[in-house]
Amino acid sequence: MNYPEILPPPHRSLAELEMGARFAELPPTFYTRLACTPLPAPYLICGSEAAANLIGLDPAEFHNPHFIEAFTGNLALPQFSPLAAVYSGHQFGVWAGQLGDGRAILLGDIALAPDQIESHMELQLKGAGSTPYSRMGDGRAVLRSSIREFLCSEAMAGLGIPTSRALCVTGSDKYVLRESPETAAVVTRMAPSFIRFGSFEHWFYNQKHEELKILADYVIAQSYPYLQDHAHPYQALLKEVTHRTAKLVAQWQSVGFMHGVLNTDNMSILGLTLDYGPFGFMEAYDPGHICNHTDQQGRYSYKNQPQIGHWNCYALGQALLPLIGEVDDVHAALSDYESVFESSMGQLWQAKLGLQTSLPHDQELITSLFMIMQHNRIDFTWFFRQLAHLSSESNAEDTALRDMFLDRSAFDAWIGQYRSRLKQENSQDEERKQRMHAVNPKYVLRNYLAQVAIEKAQQKDFSEVEKLLTILQHPFDEQPEHDAYAALPPAWASSLEVSCSS
Ligand code: AMP
Ligand code: MG
Repeated sequence: MNYPEILPPPHRSLAELEMGARFAELPPTFYTRLACTPLPAPYLICGSEAAANLIGLDPAEFHNPHFIEAFTGNLALPQFSPLAAVYSGHQFGVWAGQLGDGRAILLGDIALAPDQIESHMELQLKGAGSTPYSRMGDGRAVLRSSIREFLCSEAMAGLGIPTSRALCVTGSDKYVLRESPETAAVVTRMAPSFIRFGSFEHWFYNQKHEELKILADYVIAQSYPYLQDHAHPYQALLKEVTHRTAKLVAQWQSVGFMHGVLNTDNMSILGLTLDYGPFGFMEAYDPGHICNHTDQQGRYSYKNQPQIGHWNCYALGQALLPLIGEVDDVHAALSDYESVFESSMGQLWQAKLGLQTSLPHDQELITSLFMIMQHNRIDFTWFFRQLAHLSSESNAEDTALRDMFLDRSAFDAWIGQYRSRLKQENSQDEERKQRMHAVNPKYVLRNYLAQVAIEKAQQKDFSEVEKLLTILQHPFDEQPEHDAYAALPPAWASSLEVSCSS
């Protein structure tokens, strides 16, 4: 028998990294070709080897001065075709008109190895200078928010949640004015497409239905090719995006991730987590928690995310109406959201609790758990990780968990129900622990961890960014040498505020 040859992934140098310009095949009204604006004396803050491997780039290139210049926007490589795409959107529920890209410049795309799910990865520089869509902005991004985006993109990938990726983050000592002066940085983001719900809304609200159709056909051809021969391709597209969005939000809820700014211009047409800003991971459980200090009404609180995901799909449905034709067909495509969300969510909670079967009273078990977690302000990530250590036979292992609850009797009552539930399916402790540890991360990007890394980076020490990246890329691994990174947040962390300023 002839076996196929097994080849290692290609490790190309920067010069060998071929790039295409798929997005530029759209008509010129979709974008503006432009050059990035250089930043003085850029330096590498951190590169993600995993992201480099994904595009077949040799990670040794991170330290090549040409790489650093190119991925700061100072050196236009021959394979780059820089452009800024146009889009609009709803911000905090209000139509805001044209918004972007004000500070993201697309460089082109890279064809991926045939074994990858996606065929291409687009590369984009965030913070590489102003564009015709910058409005009043300076086209820059600050070190603080860039480190957060870099780390969280890679952390989400480590959690197995659909997301844009980050190849690297570079910095410069050039000052950028925010509430106070900060220094500039550039994140190189990667995604099969950065097209947003707001990209469609842009053409709908400008009554350019021809462009709307071109965009929908482009997205279907590039990213949903299996819909091309569908009898109702635009309705099918809306349905697919609705499904992906519902599943994505369920995954967010399952790890306590809050995006913070779920405006329609931050919603990926591929169902990816996109545009990391004032995001947060739930610590002391509070469903009303608002991670974005600017969001005073709590529109984007943890508990509101599922319905906001649906609301955003409605905004996309509105924009696609001229292509779909009938209002009822739009509603039909959107109507699956709740059931897809509920079934994904149900499966995720079930797995987090280590249950292998689904029984009628499980929902009550989950609801009562969240009630006692809220009343006792239990750390979300820590609790689920610790729960895996429970013995189904005896309460000898309960101390660590029980000690976290002020209301011990509430804990005892719940854990008693949980133990009987485990017995109902004859759950085996060791095997269940392994399953639970594969879905309940030990490490998430807590705000205070990011803050420590940012403060060191502001002093030119990038070691903590590197360390966090390494830890967060394997969030389900025990990594006992990094136990401290799984600890509960220190008292000072409660005063951290993260806002839209970036
Ligand atoms: P965001 O709230 O970060 O998703 O940004 C909304 C829009 O404003 C996006 O299109 C950004 O490109 C744009 N934007 C944000 N900050 C800046 C900035 N400093 N300069 C130019 N455009 C910006
Ligand atoms: Mg955005």
